[in-house]
Amino acid sequence: MTQTIFMVGARGAGKTTVGSALAQALGYQFIDTDLFMQQAAQMSVAEMVVQEGWLGFRRRESLALQEVAQPSTLIATGGGMILAEENRRFMRQQGTVIYLRAPASVLARRLEEYPQDAQRPTLTGRPIAEEMLEVLAAREALYQETAHHVMDGTLPPAQVVEQILAALHCETI
Ligand code: ADP
Ligand code: MG
Repeated sequence: MTQTIFMVGARGAGKTTVGSALAQALGYQFIDTDLFMQQAAQMSVAEMVVQEGWLGFRRRESLALQEVAQPSTLIATGGGMILAEENRRFMRQQGTVIYLRAPASVLARRLEEYPQDAQRPTLTGRPIAEEMLEVLAAREALYQETAHHVMDGTLPPAQVVEQILAALHCETI
């Protein structure tokens, strides 16, 4: 199997955690679009947003997506990657898209427990639980329509990996 795999979902859904474990199980290269962009631009996401606004950031994000999409590569995308129709179409056409789904309460708890992982500036400046509810309400349908497979992201990471391998019809290791 060499098809490109794209992981989509909100911040805290486990795209990096599950995605890197899944890449290892498949012998795939793992790329995180946020990290890729930060290395290419030599700026943090927060700095990009301050300097270029969310619009500038979103433009960079679409370019990064196209650049990293290669065979035998698993791509963990930023939570807002699905906002652009161009990105949704690209991912569905170029590979297999997996949506890691978790309720706002779970996402908020994870982000509060590990604030160092929440490198993004908040979108609204309001409490994280409230913000996640709002973000999911706005994006859930887009995550769903982009995904070939919707997975339960509240399970322990190893189980999520197993379920994705089963959905992809891979032998579990
Ligand atoms: P994302 O890349 O989607 O923003 P991360 O993989 O960085 O999410 O995970 C965010 C936080 O939640 C991390 O601290 C991680 O350890 C934890 N986490 C991720 N997936 C799970 C899971 N399935 N169960 C429990 N905790 C998880
Ligand atoms: Mg991540």
